[in-house]
Amino acid sequence: AARLVAPSLSRSALRLASSARTYSRVGTDSTVVHGLVGAVGNTPLIRLNTLSSETGCEILGKAEWMNPGGSVKDRAALYVVEHAEKNGLLQPGGTVVEGTAGNTGIGLAHICRAKGYKLVIYMPNTQSQEKIDLLKMLGADVRPVPAVPFTDPKNYNHQAREHAESLTNAVWTNQFDNIANRLAHIETTGPEIWRQTSNGADLDGFVCSTGTGGTLAGTARFLKTASNNRIKIWLADPPGSVLYAYKTRGVIERTGDGSITEGIGQGRLTDNLAPDWDLIDDAVHIPDSETIKMVFRLLDEEGIFCGASSAMNVVAAVEMAKGLGKGSRVATVICDGAARYQSRLFSKSWLEGKGLYEHIPADLRKYVGL
Ligand code: PMP
Repeated sequence: AARLVAPSLSRSALRLASSARTYSRVGTDSTVVHGLVGAVGNTPLIRLNTLSSETGCEILGKAEWMNPGGSVKDRAALYVVEHAEKNGLLQPGGTVVEGTAGNTGIGLAHICRAKGYKLVIYMPNTQSQEKIDLLKMLGADVRPVPAVPFTDPKNYNHQAREHAESLTNAVWTNQFDNIANRLAHIETTGPEIWRQTSNGADLDGFVCSTGTGGTLAGTARFLKTASNNRIKIWLADPPGSVLYAYKTRGVIERTGDGSITEGIGQGRLTDNLAPDWDLIDDAVHIPDSETIKMVFRLLDEEGIFCGASSAMNVVAAVEMAKGLGKGSRVATVICDGAARYQSRLFSKSWLEGKGLYEHIPADLRKYVGL
């Protein structure tokens, strides 16, 4: 049978979860933090009140849009840069190169400014002007290149690697397969959720979607280890991704076509996800019609203005809580805010073009204003 890479858990991986934090102090509770890097992490875990009372469960969302760069990817950005520093790959004045069109680029731009590194971002030329402009304003050297598949040597990821290799004192941070990304969540996201739920006593499950897999794998690794396997872990997967079929049926097969969710869905087990694949107890597939409804429900009921991957995670958290039974407590990640997507998610014609407008309940359509 077809098989993606899924190595068994190593001893060193197990030790990781209990090791002391090895990177910059990520946030502190009540003291001055030293520079912007100290403001990464320590985000609130928010009880989503309406969904909780409706389900008779506790639905908890980690407010990652409150990171300085506005997303969960600030954690990975900080760790990949500090991993390079620690390993002598990056000296003062050096250059960071990454292939990304999204939140990782924004996170890297903030971190690189704060630490005095140059940043070069390769991205497919299909990306929105807003994203390019934001990265430029944050000081990045943005290089849009033709949008060709990974198998083509001109793909933006390969160009990023080659560019870094052509420079001295430069690093390709390689978020997909650089396990410093996963380490960020083993050392910060996991322990924070643990502390925020009375050392796991008030938590039964954790679920989230994956792009690189760093968030899911690292948080799962910590919570499984710390709870002695008691806390259940689910993967939430959007249309177009292969991970749902692989987890539930062991076959590599896309479920559905493209999705309105950005930054998530995968066609392979990355090096960040592979070591922890077996820690994931189950997977849930969430159609875009459910996701879009939740974008507007979260805004209407909780005042939370979040992107589509976050809304999808919350739909999955509700399913998981129902699956675990009345009174269960499930945490997920609210990955970023909606401002980055407003020209699409809040546009009637765009939603109509995707066949999604009709799925938004009539009383929530007042939010679709553009
Ligand atoms: N949501 C959004 C909006 C993202 O940009 C990403 C990162 N690509 C994710 C979720 C998934 O995070 P991870 O890379 O840790 O799997």
